[in-house]
Amino acid sequence: MRTNIMPRVVTRNHKVILVAGGAGFIGSNLCRRFLDDGHEVICVDNFQTGCRRNIAPFLKRRYFRLIQHDICDPIDISGPVHEIYNMACAASPDRYQEGPIHTSKTCFLGALNLLELARRKKARILQSSTSEVYGDPEVSLQDESYRGCVNTCGPRACYDEGKRVAETLFWEYGAHKGVETRIARIFNTYGPNMDPEDGRVVSNFIVQALKGEDLTIYGTGKQTRSFCYVSDLVEGLIQLMASDEKMPVNLGNPCEFTMLELAEKIVKMVRSRTGVAFWPLPQDDPRQRRPNIERAKTILGWAPNVGLNEGLSTTIEWYRERLAADKEAEVPVGQ
Ligand code: UDP
Repeated sequence: MRTNIMPRVVTRNHKVILVAGGAGFIGSNLCRRFLDDGHEVICVDNFQTGCRRNIAPFLKRRYFRLIQHDICDPIDISGPVHEIYNMACAASPDRYQEGPIHTSKTCFLGALNLLELARRKKARILQSSTSEVYGDPEVSLQDESYRGCVNTCGPRACYDEGKRVAETLFWEYGAHKGVETRIARIFNTYGPNMDPEDGRVVSNFIVQALKGEDLTIYGTGKQTRSFCYVSDLVEGLIQLMASDEKMPVNLGNPCEFTMLELAEKIVKMVRSRTGVAFWPLPQDDPRQRRPNIERAKTILGWAPNVGLNEGLSTTIEWYRERLAADKEAEVPVGQ
């Protein structure tokens, strides 16, 4: 596919940045930041999990272009592209398991197609990898040298193994094809623009608490995750892109919580009278996850600033407004 973008004068500080998955949760937060910084944004999304509402405010901005495209298919863009962020893939276990073959194709073919575009355009390219490359980790603090514990034949494998091979592709293109590659291993992230029906724990718990429904705890709730607010992550991604680091870098917030602690916190903050309901633990659900971010601190000078209370309170307000708007418009949540 070849897509025409209107030619324009590009000044030294004005970059053309392609965000694949730009209508998704993290992608749309990146798009907003780049537009606010005065760059031109090319948002590529197939709208499998991306949401038109996330990018609606950008459509009338002069330097925003939307291309509906599935990165499993080759892509070409006329005109310059200086940076590519590959944020395109369903990331919630519920969603990426709906079409597991497509998930693997997105990870592998999507990465390959964007790497080829980067090679032709001489653009820098950043891969959104994931803490899922560590699988169900046997160590309590995961640093980048840990090689992980992934089940290759389980429900999460389409995503975990896809993201692992995508890292390999990035590394090969960096080592042998002269492409400026960056790899961010993103840990659990939350904040505005995460689909209320995404199925992930923060969105589920907040929406359930706001609706007065019991919070669904999978398993005992003693499994842990470490939650990073999206603005911190966006900053980390931009700093990684600007760095010279080609090897993977963990980006996340090392403050670790059990799902029971998270549920308790959200119920309290929403001032909800709801309780909890225990559901079966999904297969291969990691028991613990906490990033070691020493490399990000040393190489990028980056560390997260937003604590869970602050981030949750902004996120709760965003969902409150979103649910109210859905109710007013009488549209199903998540449309
Ligand atoms: N989880 C939960 N209730 C929910 C959704 C998820 O207890 O309604 C648990 C899930 O089993 C996992 C953790 O919360 O242990 C984080 O799940 P999520 O889907 O957000 O992301 P993951 O880190 O597993 O990719």
